[in-house]
Amino acid sequence: MSIKKIFIANRGEIAVRIIKAAKGLNIETVQAYSDGDKEMMAVKLADHSVNVGPAKAADSYLNINKMVNAAIISGADAVHPGYGFLAESADFVRAVEDAGLIFIGPSAEVIDRMGDKVAARSAALAANVPVVPGSKGLITNNDEAIEVANEIGYPVMIKATAGGGGRGIRVADNQEELIKYTSQARAEAEAAFGDGGLYIEKAIKNPRHIEVQILADGTDAIHCFERECSVQRRRQKVWEEAGADCLDEATRDKLCAGAVELAKAVGYKGAGTLEYLYDEKSNSFYFIEMNTRIQVEHTISEMITGIDLVQEMIKIAGGAKLSYKQADIRRDGHAIEVRINAENPFMQFLPFPGKVVSLQIPTGEGIRFDHFIYEGYQISPFYDSLIGKLIVHAPDRAAAIDKMSEALQGLEIGGLKTTIPLHKALAKDAAIKAGDIHTQWLEPWLDAGNLKEEKAS
Ligand code: ADP
Ligand code: ADP
Ligand code: MG
Repeated sequence: MSIKKIFIANRGEIAVRIIKAAKGLNIETVQAYSDGDKEMMAVKLADHSVNVGPAKAADSYLNINKMVNAAIISGADAVHPGYGFLAESADFVRAVEDAGLIFIGPSAEVIDRMGDKVAARSAALAANVPVVPGSKGLITNNDEAIEVANEIGYPVMIKATAGGGGRGIRVADNQEELIKYTSQARAEAEAAFGDGGLYIEKAIKNPRHIEVQILADGTDAIHCFERECSVQRRRQKVWEEAGADCLDEATRDKLCAGAVELAKAVGYKGAGTLEYLYDEKSNSFYFIEMNTRIQVEHTISEMITGIDLVQEMIKIAGGAKLSYKQADIRRDGHAIEVRINAENPFMQFLPFPGKVVSLQIPTGEGIRFDHFIYEGYQISPFYDSLIGKLIVHAPDRAAAIDKMSEALQGLEIGGLKTTIPLHKALAKDAAIKAGDIHTQWLEPWLDAGNLKEEKAS
């Protein structure tokens, strides 16, 4: 294989994950770190590390010039972007390739086409994949927005074409709200993504979020089954499962086969995820977006298939063909991931960037904790509050939920407020156990006071 040294253009738990994958392939690693990340676990684990600038992400992890220059100086021959930051920037891919380095992910052209939501909708339609009814392209003025909304009917969703992480999205119930929220969403998208492009979709009532993990080598593509991520707060995933037990076998086959077709149609290379909304009543799917990168919740697909997705994407970037055929990939049991964030769930999930004073991690068969914390580590206030992902694998969904409950009892992070109490409550909740959930389920559940603070004894 041609890749010998990978520059990791990211931080946190995904940087640690990439180092583990590279070690398994005997590839050297160079970890990028900002001034705020000198004590980060990935810096300690990588073979080498390079400072890339101030703690503020715009001046370090998001600065294409600085990142590419650091990669060149480090002598790396490939760059892994992780998720977030520059992972879906076609300009970053071009800069990496112009410097003669390999970008571990799809081509700039494919990111232009599938990373932009409006463009991805067109690509999906061209491949006969249904999308949520909505505007054909970008909305350029109020009259156009009103016309589309009247055509599809309220409520409508105003979405940023460059959006991610649940930002730049608004729901309008009527024309007045449509006009008001369009300018708000545009400002938010411009600030967050540097692109104020908006489009409109019908707001689907209480859908489930289902997504398909794919792997492709530019010619061939395969899927690693689906995940369900319907437990969300502010349109961000909180609790994720593989597979989606609400689907029957025929529906699952159709969904996964369609995702593979779409990946092939665009000449996709690497690991990617196609996201859909699922309307259970009519048993229909609507494509919403493609994430052209490794995703936070890739771990649960690894657990049920036994495939190391990060190693696969590195091998493919190095020029290898897919090492698996679809028929080789079997689904074994059920896996659940919960996102452990340094946030106070009893105070509107306020970020809590404290110091880890003690740490106890559960172990045992079918339990995995992907993270980047250690005793004495100070969580940075500059970045995303995700500090770890607790993952369990069991023969079926009910056993996986029980295992999650048990694993959560063994996870203790002293000194911080975290989302652990939320997950403990979810793992015991009747609706979760029954699988009776959708993307608008968690917020009313929280508002109804279902999460209660335990008195310290
Ligand atoms: P992001 O890029 O921020 O992840 P997505 O398009 O994937 O944006 O949407 C994030 C979430 O917002 C979805 O998982 C779902 O809960 C909700 N959502 C998005 N589009 C719609 C829609 N048309 N109707 C209802 N909910 C939606
Ligand atoms: P995923 O399923 O991989 O989490 P999302 O669309 O939910 O995909 O998130 C996209 C990326 O945006 C994630 O990698 C995450 O790190 C980043 N992200 C999510 N929320 C925020 C946020 N509040 N601020 C900055 N980045 C965020
Ligand atoms: Mg999404």
